[in-house]
Amino acid sequence: MEGVEVDERLGAVVGRVRPRRDQRRRCGVCGRRCSLYDRGDGRRLWRACDLGATMAFVEAEAPRVNCPKHGVVVARVPWARHGSRFTKDFEDQCAWLAVHVSKTALAELLRITWRTVGRIIGCVVEERSAEVDHLEGLRKIGIDEVSFRRGQRYLTVVVDHETARVVWVQEGRDEATLEGFFDQLGPARAAALRFVTADGAAWIKNVLARRCPQAIVCLDPFHVVSWATGALDQVRREVWNEARRGGQTALARELKGARWALWKNPGDLTRRQNAKLADIARTNKPLYRAYLLKEQLREVFRRPFRAAVPLLERWLGWARRCRLVPFVRLARSIRDHRSTIITTLQYGLSNARVESVNTRIRLLTRIAFGFHSATPLIALVMLALGGLCPPLPGRP
Ligand SMILES: [Zn+2]
Repeated sequence: MEGVEVDERLGAVVGRVRPRRDQRRRCGVCGRRCSLYDRGDGRRLWRACDLGATMAFVEAEAPRVNCPKHGVVVARVPWARHGSRFTKDFEDQCAWLAVHVSKTALAELLRITWRTVGRIIGCVVEERSAEVDHLEGLRKIGIDEVSFRRGQRYLTVVVDHETARVVWVQEGRDEATLEGFFDQLGPARAAALRFVTADGAAWIKNVLARRCPQAIVCLDPFHVVSWATGALDQVRREVWNEARRGGQTALARELKGARWALWKNPGDLTRRQNAKLADIARTNKPLYRAYLLKEQLREVFRRPFRAAVPLLERWLGWARRCRLVPFVRLARSIRDHRSTIITTLQYGLSNARVESVNTRIRLLTRIAFGFHSATPLIALVMLALGGLCPPLPGRP
């Protein structure tokens, strides 16, 4: 540290520094010691963590060196990542805040744009993922797809069932995207995979058959239950439309309000929602039947294996004859997945973790809506759910 002064023009505190002798003249990319090329653009400022409410900067020379491998590049400085206008501490704090506070709070507190946040967390994640190999020791994984940008684009997400961590994310939802995961994993580690859970999509199955044929493939039960919830909602909408067309406005209003009561798990219902459900049971037989069908399918995944399989068979028989088109259709697709579902029941792989990761990623996609590409969203997912969030500067 050469000196500290208050810069009236910037309204900030500026610390003038220079690297220690052994840290000088190193390549900004690889850190190798090189010969000096020139002075570059002279002195440069890096934004540092605020001192209370006052902005702070670090100021130093930014000479260029000639690296045998990377050519003429700006020399490395120990306080900042290569090519950044912020100090490492500032960037780590920004990444920590991105995980812990709201988007607006973060941008206002740090006085930077959301776009800059995206760039910073991209760099932090890139550096931190190079330090640990997330794909080491995987035995049970879940593969999931999450939509973003109002369902127009998708991420493929791989979760480790044992640690509940996201270990890999990429944009896209097709065979080529998932092949990318297996390329990175390599054949030896792919052969060590014992269980893979997924949502039953053909593109996932095809890749699994090619890249890890020994792994036992299960369905994530929450996906199956969400299919039933979707079918239930179709029935509710049909009944509601019919009531509206028939001029039964009071009934239509009631059905519209019943949405949450039908969706929620019975244990989570409030007393009013319970009453609403009782009304539906009395006045609207088809809708109540749809509700029971959804609940019984959920029950299948809560029973021990020996009780679950006969319950599944009974459910299939009931759904096939229930005269509710969405459930007849659902019964057909569940029959298609029957053997995978039975494997799922047999191994009883709990999917609570994958489900909670799925819910949290959906939340992050909403937060990340202002980002212009998938890269910062992927970085945010890895920070929040991949264990890559740095500790606050100055803390262990
Ligand atoms: Zn170099």
